[in-house]
Amino acid sequence: MPGAEPGLYLDANATEALRPEAREAVLAAFDLVGNPASVHADGRAARKLLESARAALAARLGARPEDVVFCAGATEANAMAIHGLAGGGAIVIGATEHDAVRAAAPAALIAPVDAAGRLDQAGFAALLAAHRPALACVMAANNETGVLNDIAAIAALCAAQGTRLHVDAVQAAGRVADPDYLAQGASSVAISAHKLGGPKGVGALLLAPEAASAFAPLIRGGGQERGRRGGTHNLPGIAGFAAALDAAHATTCPDPRLAALRDAIEAGARDCGARIAGAGAPRLPNTACLVLPGLAAEAQVIALDLDGIRVSAGSACSSGKVASSHVLAAMGLGDLAGNAIRVSLPWNAPDDAPARFLAAYRRLAARALRKSAHVSTSAA
Ligand code: PLP
Repeated sequence: MPGAEPGLYLDANATEALRPEAREAVLAAFDLVGNPASVHADGRAARKLLESARAALAARLGARPEDVVFCAGATEANAMAIHGLAGGGAIVIGATEHDAVRAAAPAALIAPVDAAGRLDQAGFAALLAAHRPALACVMAANNETGVLNDIAAIAALCAAQGTRLHVDAVQAAGRVADPDYLAQGASSVAISAHKLGGPKGVGALLLAPEAASAFAPLIRGGGQERGRRGGTHNLPGIAGFAAALDAAHATTCPDPRLAALRDAIEAGARDCGARIAGAGAPRLPNTACLVLPGLAAEAQVIALDLDGIRVSAGSACSSGKVASSHVLAAMGLGDLAGNAIRVSLPWNAPDDAPARFLAAYRRLAARALRKSAHVSTSAA
């Protein structure tokens, strides 16, 4: 079986460790031969599983079952929302949105964030008032820093201007107590199975009733998902998605054990001279963004990997390239935006994760310090 050398996996925000409940649900669904669209008995059995997964997800996330639109992940869910709800009108997005949103709305107006990485509500409100956009996109939790936005307050600002709000809740679902963003006033919400312990390549767009009736589909086809997203369902993926979300909420959300591990990592990293991006804001329990002057993020990721520690620099991207983080640049980190790594604890992180991580990080920080000293001596 293919696999990496065993190491300490601390890259949950790139993809969570698969939960055993999800794995079991996926494997069971593989045994169903039918297509949920078929009218015969095998089709009906598949449809029954599809609808029970839909109902479970809807109940957990505060949506009507008929307004859960299954798709192939949150890149697609975000694109569907932007295509389906903006109606060709102006769009405002937060400065720290994921590339999935930025690429789907290339002409969007950009709302600023504060130094802690939270949406600057005054700046956002001013953009809404000046441009009266059709749609605003604001993430619930940032993938690089874990910083949480106040979605209820942001939804109220949008409602005052008649702007629909789309929430990318990919990193928050399964990790915060109440990921009920529709109830908080959002028109639509994107979620992804593999970020909460389910399989990769499956996600959903949740629509508020008003948005559901206005929604224009991006992918048409065989009429699946009430005509809102064509294509045969990924039934094993969807079954695993619902099982993973249930399992995530079976333990306390946010998970205090992960928060304690994260705090220990941050305390040790600070002792090594790192600063923590977003430390002043409410954050996900599992995410630490460590900024270490003197060593580029890519070099840090590679050095830690050689020590068996798997982390990311900024957001993971399929090409494997590591660019300076637009998130940290928007937070005003300047040149240091290229010096940050993201440590994101999976739900099953071992209790000795801080000790193992910090042993490697201390070596790395000593190297960064030597490098900085060398640069300042040569410059002198
Ligand atoms: N939005 C955020 C905040 C993410 O972190 C990611 C994945 O990294 C996505 C969207 C895209 O999700 P998917 O991998 O399901 O396409």
